Amino acid sequence: MQAGYLEKLNDRQRQAVEHGGTGETMAPPLLVIAGAGSGKTSTLAHRVAHLLVNGADPRRILLMTFSRRAAAELTRRVERITKEAMGTGYAAEALTWAGTFHAIGARLLRENAPAIGLDPDFSIHDREDSADLMNLCRHGLGLTETDQRFPTKGTCLAIYSRVVNAEEPLAETLARHFPWCARWEAELKRLFGAYTSAKREQNVLDYDDLLLAWAQVMTDADFAAWLGGMWDHVLIDEYQDTNRLQARILLTLKPEGRGLTVVGDDAQSIYAFRAATVRNILDFPSAFSPQARVVTLDRNYRSTKPILAAANAVIGAASERFAKNLWTERESAEKPRLVTLATEMDQARFIVDRVLEDREAGTRLMDQAVLFRTASHSGQLEVELTRRNVPFVKFGGLKFLDSAHVKDLLAMMRFIQNPRDRVAGFRVLQLLPGVGPKAAGRVLDALALSPDATFALETMEPPSRAASDWPALVKALTTRTEWPASLGLARAWYDPHLDRIHEDAEARRADLLQLEQIAAGYPTREAFLTELTLDPPSATSDQAGIPHQDEDYLILSTIHSAKGQEWKSVYLLNAVDGCIPSDLGTGTTEEIEEERRLLYVAMTRAKDRLTLGVPLRFYVTQQKRNGDRHVYAMRTRFIPKSMLEHFDCCTWSPSRENAVPPPAPGRIDVARGLQALWE
Ligand code: ATP
Ligand code: MG
Repeated sequence: MQAGYLEKLNDRQRQAVEHGGTGETMAPPLLVIAGAGSGKTSTLAHRVAHLLVNGADPRRILLMTFSRRAAAELTRRVERITKEAMGTGYAAEALTWAGTFHAIGARLLRENAPAIGLDPDFSIHDREDSADLMNLCRHGLGLTETDQRFPTKGTCLAIYSRVVNAEEPLAETLARHFPWCARWEAELKRLFGAYTSAKREQNVLDYDDLLLAWAQVMTDADFAAWLGGMWDHVLIDEYQDTNRLQARILLTLKPEGRGLTVVGDDAQSIYAFRAATVRNILDFPSAFSPQARVVTLDRNYRSTKPILAAANAVIGAASERFAKNLWTERESAEKPRLVTLATEMDQARFIVDRVLEDREAGTRLMDQAVLFRTASHSGQLEVELTRRNVPFVKFGGLKFLDSAHVKDLLAMMRFIQNPRDRVAGFRVLQLLPGVGPKAAGRVLDALALSPDATFALETMEPPSRAASDWPALVKALTTRTEWPASLGLARAWYDPHLDRIHEDAEARRADLLQLEQIAAGYPTREAFLTELTLDPPSATSDQAGIPHQDEDYLILSTIHSAKGQEWKSVYLLNAVDGCIPSDLGTGTTEEIEEERRLLYVAMTRAKDRLTLGVPLRFYVTQQKRNGDRHVYAMRTRFIPKSMLEHFDCCTWSPSRENAVPPPAPGRIDVARGLQALWE
């Protein structure tokens, strides 16, 4: 008899789930390549559940995906299926090796630190910290003094990151992606050398290092074999968005691909800008030839026919051909809406009106989402939602964790963990009134030279202008307490500074309490810092706060962060040229094509209702040289006239029904009245 959970799958999905059988632990390599909403993630969850139901050890399964949220969702699905099949089932936590590539890498590096020449107390820099450190190095080498036009810290980091992740020589990266920086090749090389030594001296790893160091330890054949032996099954979702380093790690982990399952969709590859390469998924069959098995799925279970037809039209016009023709049986008479509006504010009003209307009609806020190209594009919508008291959560914007006060406290925790972390140290020390970069630098130099940082802190001469505030800081930094009480201690120290630095200290205090609650969910400070630095939990707007679990709220998300998800009703902001594609004509063909796939990803998130906004007056940020300016936007080039038949096109402007109409003409005679004064 067949297990109930298998009956719900279609034939191809079932083949993928049962691939390799259950008796033999190491199945041949498997690739599931299929279009949006065809059940790839669902098939992956069923495959894991199927393995567990048949006796696989959950600790010997490595499950990787692109975000912490996606990993949590995946393990929850596995839990549901096994529960259904076995009665008790596996708790999601049983899958101890489920997470993002970066988080798994961080854990492996930390656990094996002594064996691989790392200090286990290393701290992790997020992108912003990395840019700050890059900046310190830029200035340290005097690069900005000799040439005012030297690339910004962000550009330097982007170049560096690309070289590392694409495993590409610097000269090639510059020529292909940053031609305007090519003349600084020698300086950049020097800079990246200095940046790398600074990280080593400060015992810091950045995001890229987590993969780079992981890949590096895998070059040791014994280590690679040992690590590969830890897992019987390695399964990866969204494989189209992995980069060369990640592919290499996999190849060294499972050289013959035994036990390896990857799923993805080449039409949804949207991370080439971060050096992901669609070649990984396309070359999978030949990399593991002839054992590799390929399963394709073509039935979409997510969207209605009109939505799928519009999305298929958009991706069908791509210069690259994707060999998938999705079909669905979900009938609907409702085409996607394409709404032209005068301004972004009108767009925000229109969306909030519709969202509330649909909520009245029974669609919870949680089943609706608003997507956008760039996190900063939701500003007007956030204001309108706040004004009208609609709770919302924002993904991909990192508002909560980007805010200065949260960063201050996190820097404090990092500095406690690792007193050699200069970026964290700079941030913390300069919170003291009277301490500037110079004084902070002197303290950090002293710490770097001393073998015992705690002792050095307690005995050093405090910066002269901060003598009175110094003891409290030293106490907060050196007192050893249990986790998470130590965060409470740091918060108490920070509290008076909060009042001094910020006018709206109260709201920020609430955020920090939230942070403490989040922290309580982590077993150790390291786990907390690692996860928060790598993949922050859903960040919210300051105004809305984090809603309670049972509360209903609207989702706001960048398209990138919406990957893999679905909602009944989806809105896309700014379907205009200059936003999608983001560049007004200066992008390369490859970059423009990636934007088309991005639009495809956005459209295929919708189950029942899809609405695209086209605000005519759109604020476009162009290359710095031209400055920001308003331009009259055009509907995105990815929806040309010939595709309009797939949409229900309309225009909308705020109604005037609330305005009081003027009195009928002739009711008042001012001329007569004025005259009457003198009669
Ligand atoms: P994406 O490319 O966006 O990541 P996907 O291919 O991973 O999509 P899923 O998210 O796994 O697709 O599935 C899309 C929807 O289809 C989900 O709601 C899922 O529950 C449903 N679904 C998948 N397979 C089936 C099936 N055999 N029967 C009914 N519903 C299904
Ligand atoms: Mg998926």
